[in-house]
Amino acid sequence: MTWTNESFQKYRLMAPGPVPLHPEVLKTLGQEMLHHRTPLFDQILKSSLQKLKKIFLTEESVYILTGAGSSGMEACLVNLLSPGDEVLSVISGKFGERWAEMAEVFGYKVHTLQVPWGEAVVPETVENYLKQNPQIRAVLCQACETSTAVLHPIQKLGEIVSKFENTLLLVDGITAVAATHLPMDEWKIDGLVAGSQKAFMLPTGLSFVSFSKKAQKFFESAKTPRYYLDLRKEKKANASGETFFSSSVTLVRALDRALDIMLETGLPKWIHEIQDRADFTTHIARTLNLRIYSQAPSPSLTAILVPDGIDGQKWRAHLEKQYNITVMGGQDQLKGKILRVGHMGFITNEDLFAWAGAMFKSLQDMDWPLPLTEQEFFDTTREKLKL
Ligand SMILES: *Cc1c(COP(=O)(O)O)cnc(C)c1O
Repeated sequence: MTWTNESFQKYRLMAPGPVPLHPEVLKTLGQEMLHHRTPLFDQILKSSLQKLKKIFLTEESVYILTGAGSSGMEACLVNLLSPGDEVLSVISGKFGERWAEMAEVFGYKVHTLQVPWGEAVVPETVENYLKQNPQIRAVLCQACETSTAVLHPIQKLGEIVSKFENTLLLVDGITAVAATHLPMDEWKIDGLVAGSQKAFMLPTGLSFVSFSKKAQKFFESAKTPRYYLDLRKEKKANASGETFFSSSVTLVRALDRALDIMLETGLPKWIHEIQDRADFTTHIARTLNLRIYSQAPSPSLTAILVPDGIDGQKWRAHLEKQYNITVMGGQDQLKGKILRVGHMGFITNEDLFAWAGAMFKSLQDMDWPLPLTEQEFFDTTREKLKL
C-alpha cells in the first residue's frame, strides 16, 4: 500500500511565502480586537520588539512596519540615502530587480551588478567594483534571492563593505532572517529587512527592519522625501512603547506568539529544521532523477529543475488540482522551468511525506519514466522521514 486519495485531502501550502501558519498563531489571530494605545498592547509591542532583536541577532533596535516586505526594502533606502547617491545593486533575480527599480524611482544613481540567474554573487566582484567606485553609498543585495532559490555570501560581503567607511551593506533578508544563519551584527550588515509571511509564519502585512550604528548616522542626513516610512518618528514612538501610526494589533500579537515559539525552540534548532526540510526535498528530487536548479541553494526553499518534455506550468497546476499542494513555479526566464518548494512555516513530516507522494504520482500521471516503483519510493521516503 502507498499513498491514497486520503493522503491528499488536507490542503498544503508549500510556497516560499506565504506559508502555513502555526496553530498557536492562528488561535492568537482570532482573539478580540484591542486598542493600540493601551498598556496591554504597549507591553505586547515592547516584548516583540525585544524578541525580534534575538532573531536578527543584533543589539540595535528592530522596527515593525505595517506593510508587505517591500515596505521594509523601501524604508531601508529612504531613511539612509539622498537623491543623487550612488548605489550598487546586485541583481540575480526578480527581487534584485525590484530593489534596483525602487532605487531608480527615488533618484539614486543605480549601478547594477548582474549575476547569472541561479548563481551567487562572487564577493571579489563587489570588492573590485567598490575599489573603483568608492563613492558608492550602499550595496543592495538579497540574502536569499527567492526567485532563483540562491543564497548569497552575505558574510563575505559584510567583510568587504565594512572596509569602506561611507558604504553601507543593505540586505533583503525576507526569506533568510529566521530561516538561515544571518547574524546581523556579527556579519556587519548595515540594514536588514525581513517579512512576516516568510519564516515568521504569519500572514502578510508586517515588515521588520534594523540598522547598524554605521547606518544610523545616515538617518538625519538622508534627504529622500519620506513620511509613512520615516523611522525617526517610529523610533521616538517605540521608546514609549507605541508605534507612530496605528499598530496592526492582531498581527503584532500573533508575531509575539510566533517569536515565543521560535525562541522556545531556539533559533539554531529552528533554522536546522528548515535545513532538514531542504535536505529532504533535495534527496527526494534526486531519488526521482530530478536536478536542483540553484548553484548555491538556499535552505528556505528548493528550486527543482523541470525535466525536458514536461511543461512546468501544467505540472504546478496539476499538483494543486489533483494533490491539493501549492508550490510555486518560476518567473520570467524561468517560467515553466522550475518548481519552487518552500520550507518555511508550519510544515510537518506528514506534509513532506504527502508532497513526496504527490511528486511521484504527478510524474507518473504525466508518463514520465520513473527510476523506481511507487512501492520502493514509498518505503524509502517513509524511512527517510522516520514515519
Ligand atoms: C517575498 C519577498 C519580497 C517581498 O515581499 P512582499 O511582501 O511581496 O513585498 C522581497 N524580497 C524577497 C527576497 C522575497 O522573498
